[in-house]
Amino acid sequence: MNRFEDTPAGDLEDLRVLTLERLTRVPAFRRGSLQQLWRKCGKPNCHCAAEGDPGHGPRWQWTRTARDGTRGQALRADQADAVRAELDAGAQFDQIVDDLVEVNEAICRQAAAPVGARQARPAKKSGT
Ligand SMILES: [Zn+2]
Repeated sequence: MNRFEDTPAGDLEDLRVLTLERLTRVPAFRRGSLQQLWRKCGKPNCHCAAEGDPGHGPRWQWTRTARDGTRGQALRADQADAVRAELDAGAQFDQIVDDLVEVNEAICRQAAAPVGARQARPAKKSGT
């Protein structure tokens, strides 16, 4: 069930505009995830060869699976916080888009006459 089902049409249109405005305020964002990487260099005398040693690092990497493959970017430790904020902004964008879909769907559902009701609109499409 759409959570806007019982919202009056005028309020829905206001909500649609407000939601679109919220979208414009989302800062630059990314999707995907941030990983902390530790690696073993392979040199037998290095501290990282010892059992229990986490290895060299940490290094940070952002990755995202896209339709055409995985995107990634190596990051310095001091860039990790900024990327976390960009990922949060991405989640914020997705949430607003979900809200927008709900509002638009509710508007369209209200506009469509219920099945079995008398046809309120002419069958011929306007503008064609
Ligand atoms: Zn090493």
